Amino acid sequence: MTLLDEVAKLEQEAIERIGSADSLDLINELKIKYLGRKGELTAILKNLKSLSVDERKEVGGKANKVRAALDASLEATIAKFSTGSDDSSIDPTMPGTAQKVGTVHIINQVMGEICDTFYGMGFEIARGPHVETDHYNFESLNFPPDHPARDMQDTFFVEGGRLLRTHTTPVQARELEKRKPPIKIISPGRVFRNEEISTRAHVSFHQVDGFLVDENVTVADMKGALVAFCRAFFGEELKLKFRPSFFPFTEPSVEVDVSCFLCKGKGCQLCKYSGWLEILGCGMIHPNVLKAAGHDPEKYTGYAFGMGVERVAMLKYKVNDIRLFFNNNVRFLRQFS
Ligand SMILES: [Zn+2]
Repeated sequence: MTLLDEVAKLEQEAIERIGSADSLDLINELKIKYLGRKGELTAILKNLKSLSVDERKEVGGKANKVRAALDASLEATIAKFSTGSDDSSIDPTMPGTAQKVGTVHIINQVMGEICDTFYGMGFEIARGPHVETDHYNFESLNFPPDHPARDMQDTFFVEGGRLLRTHTTPVQARELEKRKPPIKIISPGRVFRNEEISTRAHVSFHQVDGFLVDENVTVADMKGALVAFCRAFFGEELKLKFRPSFFPFTEPSVEVDVSCFLCKGKGCQLCKYSGWLEILGCGMIHPNVLKAAGHDPEKYTGYAFGMGVERVAMLKYKVNDIRLFFNNNVRFLRQFS
């Protein structure tokens, strides 16, 4: 290879490497490597003395051109890295575009608020599986074999005779089996029902269930806890109404209405002009449920309660369609940040 070829080869290699360099450090390294006092171009030119005068002129001239070309290429690349861009219209002193920070989903917020209120009253949080057995979802909770809730209409059955839990009350059955009274548990989570989706109903929604078991627990204890919860959650001025109801796992069973916090009981669209809003179901734990978990119903009594998180959120924030919570429309969800 002649010296002229060597110079041409060096030029080609250097231009390629400068073009693909991705940092200022690398550019500076390349500058020293090719053009430095102990660099490759200088090393080639040291051999000039072995050439004839004409050849020296030719190679020397070529070498000067290569040096100038590489210098220009290096300077251009350094300038590009220094401004961060080829575009000189960008003003780096301008404030940047703020990134929107996400928020906790409104349903998780409401579920957290409900749990916090009971946590403050000494309840512990427990969770259970979404896929349940018939035993924990129904049998241990005193559902008779012909209870309509077991119907295919309401329950999603999965392989192996298991099902998607239709309420969070199975956590009560599981925790009752594991623990010795006194027990104070709150269990938040997702539940599933085989229902037609509408503005009021969905196949998947959330509940918060709670229960307390100890000696000498009475209806008065239940009323006290639920009045404290409703006032902390919806407002101090609230009135409560306890209506008889039916759940297989409680006896007696009660539904709790609160005075409408929008119209203060005068009657409005939210409360359908009744002045009252249905908020939660509760009752004294059925002796059969205590027995199924191995506790003596003669010694221990307890109360249980449960509420739908979406329903509470719809009332509290005046949302008229349950589907809005699951559509993931950011404009809807951002209101609650
Ligand atoms: Zn009202």
